[in-house]
Amino acid sequence: MEKRTELYRGKAKTVFTTDDPERLILQFRNDTSAFDGEKVEQLDRKGMVNNKFNNFIMAKLEAAGIPTQLDRVLSDTETLVKRLDMIPVECVIRNFAAGSLVRRLGVTEGQALNPPTFEQFLKNDALHDPMINESIAISFGWATAEQLARMKQLTYQVNDVLSALFDEAGMMLVDFKLEFGVDGDGNIVLGDEFSPDGCRLWDKETRKKLDKDRFRQGLGGVVEAYEEVAARLGIAL
Ligand code: UDP
Repeated sequence: MEKRTELYRGKAKTVFTTDDPERLILQFRNDTSAFDGEKVEQLDRKGMVNNKFNNFIMAKLEAAGIPTQLDRVLSDTETLVKRLDMIPVECVIRNFAAGSLVRRLGVTEGQALNPPTFEQFLKNDALHDPMINESIAISFGWATAEQLARMKQLTYQVNDVLSALFDEAGMMLVDFKLEFGVDGDGNIVLGDEFSPDGCRLWDKETRKKLDKDRFRQGLGGVVEAYEEVAARLGIAL
């Protein structure tokens, strides 16, 4: 597999083309950002930890029948993935109240949400990822009703698989964000990444935060927390 040109540089990952038009390389960097890129720092080992974390989770999801873009790991920080046309709609499920939900509704952090909530946001940093809904996404042509229904179904499936996985390892999956794309055959496939950068994980007993809120809130020990989560899941780093 030959790495060719840089296609896109995101806040934490760079995407490269390859000699295969159907494959891309995701390179996980140490850059850590919050507040739509306003706060950025380099955190040692984070690219490697998130690459290995993401590969472990994506393989678990594939095994549970959820289509993902994962092909194979190339190095500590690089993974080969299927090329997708990404849909600019972020799907968020919450099992417990935190983050923007608490700010928006003034509810108590940690309140259990039964059933879990499902929200959609437009992927657009300049606009601070505004909340949207299905009707808006369809009218603007960002996705069809069928694609949105499939994305919602898959996000709930991911929640079932990963809530159980983290629960067994002594953690609460508070909330998470997923991004999907369309493959060459028109199938909706899970893209982007699943790592502590894009979800909230709390220790079940102490409710210690083990995710990017440590960075957002300046709590320190960010990568150490990610490594602790990885160790609890049995991921070799
Ligand atoms: N999230 C994300 N990228 C974003 C916005 C949110 O990965 O651009 C994740 C975030 O880490 C959390 C979940 O989506 O796990 C819900 O985030 P929330 O709406 O509470 O926003 P935040 O408080 O993180 O701004």
